[in-house]
Amino acid sequence: PVPVITVDGPGGAGKGTVTQMLAKRLGYHLLDSGALYRLTALAAARQGVSLDDEAALVQVAASLDVAFEPTPPGEPARVMLAGEDVTSEIRTETCGNNASKVAVMQPVRDALLQRQRDFREAPGLVADGRDMGTVVFPDAPVKIFLTASAEERARRRYLQLKDTTAGVTIDALLKEIKARDDRDMNRSAAPLKPADDAQVIDSTGLSIEEVLGRCMVAAGQ
Ligand code: C5P
Repeated sequence: PVPVITVDGPGGAGKGTVTQMLAKRLGYHLLDSGALYRLTALAAARQGVSLDDEAALVQVAASLDVAFEPTPPGEPARVMLAGEDVTSEIRTETCGNNASKVAVMQPVRDALLQRQRDFREAPGLVADGRDMGTVVFPDAPVKIFLTASAEERARRRYLQLKDTTAGVTIDALLKEIKARDDRDMNRSAAPLKPADDAQVIDSTGLSIEEVLGRCMVAAGQ
């Protein structure tokens, strides 16, 4: 079978950057599964579907017209929804929060499952998400759970946002991060937790290069 390296963990632990670098190093494909939940939330908003209309959200998820367009390796893919570039739109805090609301619905998750598995193509896949090792690729030979303290994740997010977002504070971000963690960990549908056979890496206080190094070791490279 085509090898898969799963990288799961809470929001803001550095998974996005690390999985892009890992995929580039190894020449593997990359699945950003969070983008699919973000796209479901965005497409729902565009179609006037309410975030608590589960049946309609399942339809939105099942019929997502999405394309991940290749960019140079190591850069985020361009994300197209029905032919429109929504790469930056899906990265907002609002979209992330809405994504975590649709992600609690098991039928929505089911509607996105096969689409995620289809990313498994030679020579290999790096899969970024919350349930990559537990649900989507349970047979992956390498599973990493990347975490960091909530305070550190709020600090990192603040540094990313402070120049572009007026009035953003570390405290407000910390509150959002904790609310999202709570939703992701305490839901009944695929709750966020390390797979039994995952290697846990805590990135608190580590540089991105150090985290990448530990992931390469975990991947046996
Ligand atoms: O990783 P990202 O911040 O893009 O994910 C947005 C939200 O989508 C997460 O907070 C989580 O609720 C949901 N998600 C999920 N399962 C995944 C990836 C993301 O439930 N595999």
